[in-house]
Amino acid sequence: MHNETSFDILIRGGAIIDGTKRPRYTADVAIRGERIVGIGDFSQHTAATEIDATGLVVAPGFIDSHTHDDQALLSQPDLPFKVSQGVTTVVTGNCGISIAPLRAGTALPSPLNLLDAGNERFTTFGAYLDALRASPSAVNVVPMVGHTNFRTIVMDDLERAATPDEVEAMKALLEEALAAGAVGMSTGTYYPPAAAATEQEVTEVSRPLAARRALYVSHIRNEADRCLESLEETFRIGHEVSTPILLSHHKLMRKANFGKSTVTLRRIEEEMQRQCVNLDCYPYTASSTMLHLDEERLQGRVTLASCEPYPHFAGRDLQDIADEWGVSRVEASKRLQPASAIYYSMDEEDVQRILAFERTMIGSDGVPAGERPHPRLWGTFARVLGRYSRDVQLFPLETAVWKMTGLTAEVFGLEQRGQVARDFHADITIFDPATVQDLADYDHPTRPAQGIEAVIVNGAVAYRSGVHRHTRTGKVLARKPADAAA
Ligand SMILES: [Zn+2]
Repeated sequence: MHNETSFDILIRGGAIIDGTKRPRYTADVAIRGERIVGIGDFSQHTAATEIDATGLVVAPGFIDSHTHDDQALLSQPDLPFKVSQGVTTVVTGNCGISIAPLRAGTALPSPLNLLDAGNERFTTFGAYLDALRASPSAVNVVPMVGHTNFRTIVMDDLERAATPDEVEAMKALLEEALAAGAVGMSTGTYYPPAAAATEQEVTEVSRPLAARRALYVSHIRNEADRCLESLEETFRIGHEVSTPILLSHHKLMRKANFGKSTVTLRRIEEEMQRQCVNLDCYPYTASSTMLHLDEERLQGRVTLASCEPYPHFAGRDLQDIADEWGVSRVEASKRLQPASAIYYSMDEEDVQRILAFERTMIGSDGVPAGERPHPRLWGTFARVLGRYSRDVQLFPLETAVWKMTGLTAEVFGLEQRGQVARDFHADITIFDPATVQDLADYDHPTRPAQGIEAVIVNGAVAYRSGVHRHTRTGKVLARKPADAAA
């Protein structure tokens, strides 16, 4: 320890929940530059910025394991919806879709079009990472690439499985993305542009992941009546490829499947003995994605989150619009494209059971588009801390924090992040455990969370007392070329 020191930031007297599940303890945290340089008693020291954290929790910055922020990182670089709930790192490129690579000048199928800004397209994954580095956002980025992107680039017809030549072309695109630093590849065989991809296609395309132990991230084929079969397919692919699996936003949709999380979690736990399986979950009983066009997926209550041709319809019930137009829900959905929607389709008990499952990480799956996004975009992390840990007492606060920090850093291989520890990067979130709470709901989906007192990203205060500082200290946490194993 330098004795005469002054530090850049001193956080005094907080209860440190360090991201490892270790019980909280009281200490000061000293930051110099981008690193945590000391944890202990610094009452005799000073710093340029001093934060009194008495009565507050000092935690690692939250890592959002599942986002669709690929485009927002460039177009809304403050990411207020993330920073205001304590998120300092986002994982992009989920559900088979990423902002890169894309072929220039072609129309993109839904849901890929939800990510498209319309102006600039990145034809290589490396070009996207270069753009992020040249124009940093408020948060760190852990980038992944989407299999659906590959299909739209190499295939003239998405309604069939890829030929061997097309598989080879997709593997080359995956190699490019991995060499540039992608930490994994996601698939979304649930969605129309990848629904025709067979198990064999996904297996073969995924093979380059294994040499780097890069993640195979799966929005499984079916999260409703065929959830178990779909899990089995994902398990077989991961096992055949021999690379770690991440099951995205595990859930059970539709009433007939309520309660089946007891079965799926037992199966996941069993599979964890055989191979590396990870999973994440968002803390809500409604899902949100593209506005579907088939009757089966439009069952139950559906509201619009965003709608390009009729932006003012955001927030409205699909049934009301269909009634007003005197058409079926399917026909109304066709006329409303491109659009995203909210589906009220899950059981609270399943959500709680999945959240409480030991290895479940917290990922928002927020879609930063439109006037009426799903409230998970602004509320996920504060909701887990406030509602599920403090109020429902689903798990101790130390566990809640671990599920959004230490565990997530471990799964994605993030070095020296996800913990409040000496020499770690200074990504820190300070919150009030008594008041932290999501305020975003389906009627007011963009209300910032309460109780988040300060957010520090790589040693810079990004957010304090409800005010965003417009910092741009986020980094690209790409896999290093050196990580490529033979
Ligand atoms: Zn998904």
